[in-house]
Amino acid sequence: MLRDVRIAISVTSEVDKILEKIAEERGVQKSKLVETIVLQWLYERGYVKIYHFNFRDNVISLWDTVLGRIVDLEYKPDKRMLFCNYCKAYVCGHILTAKNHPDIKPKIIKWDIIIDEY
Ligand SMILES: [Zn+2]
Repeated sequence: MLRDVRIAISVTSEVDKILEKIAEERGVQKSKLVETIVLQWLYERGYVKIYHFNFRDNVISLWDTVLGRIVDLEYKPDKRMLFCNYCKAYVCGHILTAKNHPDIKPKIIKWDIIIDEY
């Protein structure tokens, strides 16, 4: 795992309320939520590549190059969706990138997974 660096940001109280609500729904701290939002932004702009992945049972494991760690995407058959165990979300940069990866896409089609864009 790469070393963590702390940064401070300021947001309006309205933004804070929204972040607080979503963080509570996900069961994560606000700082973790903001980190996953930044990660998704990085993925959407191609700053992060998936170099390695692995399938086992109902889990797709990815190597996240900016986190320097493995991230597991777990298939939830009841919802027919992938759940990211790192972001604690059904929609995140990992899932959105995985769905477009040529080696992962066939698995997503085979599992008949629903990918919510937002
Ligand atoms: Zn994720």
